[in-house]
Amino acid sequence: ADWAAAVAAIRRLPADARVLLICHVNPDGDALGSMLGFGLGLRRLGLRRLQATFPGPPEVPEPFRWLPGLDLLVPQDAAYPDPDLLICFDASSESRLGDLADRLGSAGAALVLDHHPSNTGFGGIHLVDPHAAATSVVAAELLDRLGVPLDAEIAACFYVALSTDTGSFRFEATTPAVHELAARLLATGLRPGEISQRIFDTRPFGAVRLFGEALGRARLEPGAAGGRGLVWTYATLDDLARYDQPPHVLDALIDPVRCTAEADVSCVVKQAAVGEWSVSLRSRGAVDVSRVAVALGGGGHRLAAGFTGRGSLAEVVDRIRAELDGAVLAA
Ligand code: 5GP
Ligand code: MN
Ligand code: MN
Repeated sequence: ADWAAAVAAIRRLPADARVLLICHVNPDGDALGSMLGFGLGLRRLGLRRLQATFPGPPEVPEPFRWLPGLDLLVPQDAAYPDPDLLICFDASSESRLGDLADRLGSAGAALVLDHHPSNTGFGGIHLVDPHAAATSVVAAELLDRLGVPLDAEIAACFYVALSTDTGSFRFEATTPAVHELAARLLATGLRPGEISQRIFDTRPFGAVRLFGEALGRARLEPGAAGGRGLVWTYATLDDLARYDQPPHVLDALIDPVRCTAEADVSCVVKQAAVGEWSVSLRSRGAVDVSRVAVALGGGGHRLAAGFTGRGSLAEVVDRIRAELDGAVLAA
């Protein structure tokens, strides 16, 4: 990783330099938490002209609407067209940045913080650690190297990021270093029970019932993925409308689906527009779902990946089935 170049690119900025922070479309806890926490850190360094934004629908998902640093957010159209420094968080490729990908070329310098093995190497200065549990781990190390202390607000952002991407410290990427960072974050006085309840365990009753409907029509295909099994379900824009829910509530639908004992691979296909589907893939270990996602134009990690599919629901699921056999890992 280009730590020295990254530190130098930030240290040489005058206080009135324009800094634009961006993250991937449909931001999750890691995208928002690493971006806003790092932005607050830059504010502590005295930088005054900080903006944060992301492509696509501008709504911050309800579970994250209390995060410190939300005041840094500006609408995509209001963001500096040619910032002195652009910093990109948690995006594995330019396609995850929508129209904001243009800023990579027009910025004075572009810094990329990420942890996806499928990162394409776009941008200028790379801090991409495929072994990091979350982009916030990379962001926290960069703040350390810049000499910015972790305060309670920065810590809340990074804690959300870390607990989201590790599934509350349950996934394989949960190393001693992750717990050491979590310990430093907790030492600022944040309340983990309150944060977890807000981001994982709170959803509108309509979303609970929508999950029930989607889970009720889940399909189990034991022969898929070379006999390792596939379980999948879907939700349409009409489902969202009937239960009066915004699209982001479906981000958590994969969690009950992926518990299925009889399937290594789980999948939720979420309609994003007519003929456009946002697909979440998870593996219990026998299949590298990032291979499937990359083959179909997306990206992610070995056990958690996704892509955007076009066509009918049946066509999208057929394409997944076709890629799964080649993605089974050697025993
Ligand atoms: P999720 O299913 O939670 O949306 O995403 C799981 C993982 O797959 C995340 O690491 C995310 O970055 C990646 N991912 C999800 N959708 C896409 C996509 O459309 N394109 C790419 N490149 N990665 C995706
Ligand atoms: Mn993410
Ligand atoms: Mn991440």
